[in-house]
Amino acid sequence: MSIAKTFLEWPVLRQLREGDFLGRGPAVASERTKSLTPRTVEADRVAKSVCPYCAVGCGQKIFVKDEKIVQIEGDPDSPISRGRLCPKGSASEQLVNNPTRQTKVLYRAPHATEWTRLSMAEATEMIADRIIETRARTWQGTDDEGRRLNRTMGIASLGGATLDNEENYLIKKLFTGLGAIQIENQARI
Ligand code: SF4
Repeated sequence: MSIAKTFLEWPVLRQLREGDFLGRGPAVASERTKSLTPRTVEADRVAKSVCPYCAVGCGQKIFVKDEKIVQIEGDPDSPISRGRLCPKGSASEQLVNNPTRQTKVLYRAPHATEWTRLSMAEATEMIADRIIETRARTWQGTDDEGRRLNRTMGIASLGGATLDNEENYLIKKLFTGLGAIQIENQARI
């Protein structure tokens, strides 16, 4: 770069030239920044939705290109969140499109060192068999004094951070129906 060009690119001169007196606008944007375009500009359409993760219910704008989610942002029209999302809600797009996301059932048998792939039907059968057997083996109808318990201490549920409201509702309903009383979610721990 020539000396004259270097001088003209001096930050104060750039600010004066651009009318950016506080140095917060175009005068401080790099060539790389100027060459970037937001993913939202290239979207084919925008769907309005609600963040699934917690009871706050922040509004989301889902940007879709070629029928694939390319960005999720806060919806300024939402009276709940007014365009804001917490870090978890802001990362929704990364959860949906994460290349390491597991979409197949993996099973590691006792003492095995490798995972094997199971079909969903096979895995569901195995889980159901184990729940039925464990519930029958650990069922407590009454305590030592004959008071009704109707519970099992042999089954517990621990939910993860990316379970949404509807999933947690169904999990709570299922496990309570089975007689389990140890039902927790990452959000409460
Ligand atoms: S963006 Fe955060 S606060 Fe809002 S609903 Fe989602 S998880 Fe809850």
